[in-house]
Amino acid sequence: MTVLNKTGQKVFLTDYTWKELSELPEKKELKFLLPLGATEEHGYHLPLGSDTLQASKVAQMAAQRVPGVIVMPEISYGSCVDTMNFCGTIHISGTTLGSLVTDIAESLYRHGFRKLVIFNGHGGNKGVADTGLREALHNLTPPGKEFAPDFDIYLLNAYERPGQQISPLVEGKDWGHACEIETSVMLVLAPEAVDMKQAVEEYMPGDSYTVWRVRDMKTVSQSGVHGAANLATPKKGKQVLELLVSDLVSLLERI
Ligand SMILES: [Zn+2]
Repeated sequence: MTVLNKTGQKVFLTDYTWKELSELPEKKELKFLLPLGATEEHGYHLPLGSDTLQASKVAQMAAQRVPGVIVMPEISYGSCVDTMNFCGTIHISGTTLGSLVTDIAESLYRHGFRKLVIFNGHGGNKGVADTGLREALHNLTPPGKEFAPDFDIYLLNAYERPGQQISPLVEGKDWGHACEIETSVMLVLAPEAVDMKQAVEEYMPGDSYTVWRVRDMKTVSQSGVHGAANLATPKKGKQVLELLVSDLVSLLERI
């Protein structure tokens, strides 16, 4: 079924024909939203696609609230070096991911679109996506000219800005990966995909939701969880989801 926003406009890029898209008024004002996820271990209880699903759903919910937002097909693979030794994690190199982001940004620009927001649901993608966008700006800038001044591009990391409001909701000792918070959100977005009987409490020594030690997580974790996934509830999930969606909405309304 075609998803529409509150003004009746299609939400997903892939639902448009090229002609419909090219004839939309004020092309330069349209805001393109690219969800960035991962295919990565999320403990014994959450599916490998958890980051992709969260980024895509939050993007869709935000786009339905703000007119003039078009959601692009998500990138379902990410930079996952530190969880690579858990079965099923798919890692793509920084070069590959950065190139994908750069190519997508450049394609939008060449069609006359001037606003792009990458909404990132996976911690390992942060620096790579940021670099990819900078490369795009650099490539689109004629020699000696100002840095593509008419292209507004943003990288928003899903859990970064709302983090301070989320932390008081946490009952476990910490949160950060496949944890109480992510599991709660998944209980709202895809309850059938969560196996709470398998949800454990485990912490990776030295990590915290604000500071992450880069290493092979398999050497310090049995389950691949950092947090108290067993304390997840749909009630917390609804609160966190609203924080994530409103954070993205506030950016989309501002640009
Ligand atoms: Zn995750």
